[in-house]
Amino acid sequence: MTVRRDAAGNVIGRYEGTEPGAAALLTGSHFDSVRDGGRYDGNLGVILPIACVAEWNRQGKRFPFAVEVVGFAEEEGVRFKATLLGSRAIAGTFDNNVLDNVDDSGKTMRDVMAAAGFDPAGLPAAAHDPKKVLAFIEVHIEQGPVLLNEGLPVGVVTAISGASRFIVELEGLAGHAGTVPMDMRRDAAMAGAEIGLYIEKRCGGKPGLVGTVGQFNVPNGATNVVPGRAVFSIDIRCGDDAEREPPSVTCWPRSNACAHAATCVRRCARRTKPRVFPAPRGCRSNGPPPSPARACRCATFPPAPAMTPWPLPRLPMSRCCLCAAATAASATTPPKS
Ligand SMILES: [Zn+2]
Repeated sequence: MTVRRDAAGNVIGRYEGTEPGAAALLTGSHFDSVRDGGRYDGNLGVILPIACVAEWNRQGKRFPFAVEVVGFAEEEGVRFKATLLGSRAIAGTFDNNVLDNVDDSGKTMRDVMAAAGFDPAGLPAAAHDPKKVLAFIEVHIEQGPVLLNEGLPVGVVTAISGASRFIVELEGLAGHAGTVPMDMRRDAAMAGAEIGLYIEKRCGGKPGLVGTVGQFNVPNGATNVVPGRAVFSIDIRCGDDAEREPPSVTCWPRSNACAHAATCVRRCARRTKPRVFPAPRGCRSNGPPPSPARACRCATFPPAPAMTPWPLPRLPMSRCCLCAAATAASATTPPKS
């Protein structure tokens, strides 16, 4: 392979086919990871195709197309809170605004790239011509328990879930744990707990729909104080927007949750669209041909899912449920913060 590095820091190894300069089958994965991402997260999808190329080379085997193995840079985007940087550069969808994102020490991505010898001005040249890309295949560990539990060695991706992420803030009324009667409380934490239980129940009833409350904070909480505020995250994913988007999931009934607290602030951190892969050409999988919803990605090179920021409406609790917030969102200007 001949190896090059592009302006985004992607490392690309090219194994020429029988015809030099032919279109390429792209494969690869990210070589950054996240805390506790596991030993094989990303790396497997880079190392495995390199091992394949080594064996083909040993056998003197060449194809009528080139094979390019890509190690994607900054896929997880932890440092600058912007994901898919390397793959976006290759797809030609890199958003230059993220160059001004700062890390925890206040350094911009632009400055850090320059210090590492990368020129952001060269990013457009990192984009691949779609005519020169035959397909993209990624091998990745499952990062879940299903294959293990089913005793299966491998699975084929049929869709990438769209994701909706929210930070919800509930404001109630702090009070003395001993003197405020139960029926006179506006307990923000209990309101949040009910919302979390609703999300668990709602998402548990639909295959492919998952919801997680991964962070839950009671600011200034104390053992003997009725919580006046609660802040928690919601992460909802599904391959089908109709199941994931409000009001089907993020609307909860006007239950006790609303009665607990005084004000609800919903912030949507971000939202991505799901991508279901169309029926592949020449898929060699056994069994009946896959339907569009169950197709594998072996013959497609879909664009990266678009991310759409949502506004941050502040609603009185009398209107508090996420579907009301979502309805109001389109007419609301997001706060500056
Ligand atoms: Zn990964």
